[in-house]
Amino acid sequence: MTHVITKQCESTCDTACVSVCPVDVIHGPVNVDELRALEGADRATAAAGLQLFIDPDGCINCGCCVPECPVDAIYPEDEVPAAYESDIEANARYFSG
Ligand code: SF4
Ligand code: SF4
Repeated sequence: MTHVITKQCESTCDTACVSVCPVDVIHGPVNVDELRALEGADRATAAAGLQLFIDPDGCINCGCCVPECPVDAIYPEDEVPAAYESDIEANARYFSG
């Protein structure tokens, strides 16, 4: 089992989950430090269309990231809403290449 970040992260992508993950398995096509340095509209522009992903091979299912997310984008794998089911594979695929 793993946790999964869904598309709801897109364009918010505020990295709050990264800060609390004890095993550093949350990554994505963004420079986290650069993103953190931006505020409000500037961050939204830099993160437009982008989201972070959780490495299913490293996630220890602690759940720490879930309450940190301002847009409720993170779910345990077996609780991902049907509308976001394809994000389970999308998270795994990001780390497979
Ligand atoms: S559930 Fe825990 S280990 Fe998995 S991504 Fe979230 S904070 Fe990291
Ligand atoms: S806390 Fe939520 S919105 Fe922010 S980067 Fe993580 S999953 Fe995306």
